[in-house]
Amino acid sequence: MSSSLSTPTPSAGGALELLSRLRAVVAGESQPLVLPQLINGQFVESTADQHISVTNPATNTEVARVPLTPLSELDDALELAEQAFLRWRNTPVPTRARLMLSYQHLLKQHHDELAEIISHELGKTFDDAKGDVWRGIEVVEHAANIPSLIMGETVENVATGIDSYSVTQSLGVCLGITPFNFPAMIPLWMFPLSIACGNAFVLKPSEQVPLTTLRLAELFMEAGAPEGILTVVQGGRDQVNHLLAHEIPRTVSFVGSVPVGQHIYRTATDNLKRAQCFAGAKNHMVIMPDAPADQVVNALVGASVGAAGQRCMAISVAVFVGDSKALIERVRDALAEVRPGGWNDKGASYGPLISPQALERVTGWIGQGVEEGAELLLDGRGITVEGYPDGNWLGPCMFSKVTPEMVLYREEIFGPVLCCMEAADLSEAIELINNNPYGNGTSIFTRSGGAARRFQNEIAVGQVGINVPIPVPLPFFSFTGWRGSFFGDLHAYGKQAVRFYTETKTVTARWFDDEPTDSNQPNFSIQMR
Ligand code: NAD
Repeated sequence: MSSSLSTPTPSAGGALELLSRLRAVVAGESQPLVLPQLINGQFVESTADQHISVTNPATNTEVARVPLTPLSELDDALELAEQAFLRWRNTPVPTRARLMLSYQHLLKQHHDELAEIISHELGKTFDDAKGDVWRGIEVVEHAANIPSLIMGETVENVATGIDSYSVTQSLGVCLGITPFNFPAMIPLWMFPLSIACGNAFVLKPSEQVPLTTLRLAELFMEAGAPEGILTVVQGGRDQVNHLLAHEIPRTVSFVGSVPVGQHIYRTATDNLKRAQCFAGAKNHMVIMPDAPADQVVNALVGASVGAAGQRCMAISVAVFVGDSKALIERVRDALAEVRPGGWNDKGASYGPLISPQALERVTGWIGQGVEEGAELLLDGRGITVEGYPDGNWLGPCMFSKVTPEMVLYREEIFGPVLCCMEAADLSEAIELINNNPYGNGTSIFTRSGGAARRFQNEIAVGQVGINVPIPVPLPFFSFTGWRGSFFGDLHAYGKQAVRFYTETKTVTARWFDDEPTDSNQPNFSIQMR
């Protein structure tokens, strides 16, 4: 490694100053940052001699390097997290709630700063990056409700003089592995609730977007988090696999692609850990003949190419019921007006794809789709964006005449590509969606309450929008993907996450009176009397 590279460790004022350092790198005034880890409350440099580059997808220039952390450092980090858990587990619940309130306040204060960091490492437009942070802040707000979320249950007199009650206790050290596409929201799905439940959390951010996580962690410390309850380790596949095999983590929360999610679920459960793995998707929007056309056009445009289609809840398939020719033309014309651009370009609707490899993969599928007979109504390949000649740009793309056996339908795509299909009636649309292996999100646009209710009832997808294209639930519900989009039992945030991050203990109690009674006789039956 060049000696001119440096790990940002806290300045004299105690801050990492990530954004100002990142801005200097982006402006070409400074060398890429070598990223630290957060271990036992301190930002420390790894002894790693191998690193992965973090690049700005709008320019493909290197902004940072992620250490491939030596496995012995991970062992030490887990031991320290375990010790922190033992100190934290009996912290009064209102104290934990107040930590979340302070954190929520700081996240709001630093909302713009976090969004700009996201924009530099992922390329999201500033507005979209602010939305990413906001959806994470909402989860922290939810975690501040921990006293009522963690309440147990009580029944008096389950038998004569006997009461039963349950208490909800923390588990230990929880592990989180996050993807590239939501650098703020997805880490915030995980560690605040887990820590509010009394656990310690070890987070391994995506090696493609690790900077936002570091700033989130720094703000968490500033909010008053005791040292060690949040650990951030860096690395890639080998580091994840080592963490999964280690005996300390009790739970594994993963968000990412399907093959990796399946691997992580199997490995975690083979190692007797509780796991929740959120994976890829193929989300359909059904357009009934009575749907309001303007609303349909707006919904399809935003939900298909927003965030460059790199959202697990993006709409990638529009299923038109009945005659759709005119509406498809309107959608195409509206999409043709949309353009990607730099993070602070107010006229840009979305940013670049995450990497040249992602761009090549998506454009390859577009080419294959044409060869397989789909009709390319709008071709965004090969576009240029002023000021960013080297970015991973792809303009909006739209296909019609897509069929289930085509690669465009079989693959997740994860780019700004909308595929249009046709169904004779609602039954055929429901059948198509239920035959797709994924089950993350879907929506129906209609004016008919009967059609909407039938769709809601019969569709085998975990998150349903009725005239809402991207139905991501707010955190007092849970994020409930189904089938091939989720491996596990209990979902992210909401009441389900509190159950995921805790253990229920049920107590059956009797207090003896001074005088012996009949119930002091031996009872040879299992029945309580
Ligand atoms: P990815 O699976 O490539 O990586 C996710 C994480 O897994 C990273 O931290 C990475 O270091 C780790 N990883 C990668 N390969 C591994 C391996 N072989 N062994 C162990 N760990 C490994 O995913 P990505 O490209 O970062 O994210 C995009 C994917 O995430 C898309 O498929 C998208 O649909 C999905 N996603 C799903 C949801 C959801 O809620 N269902 C939300 C966001 C993203």
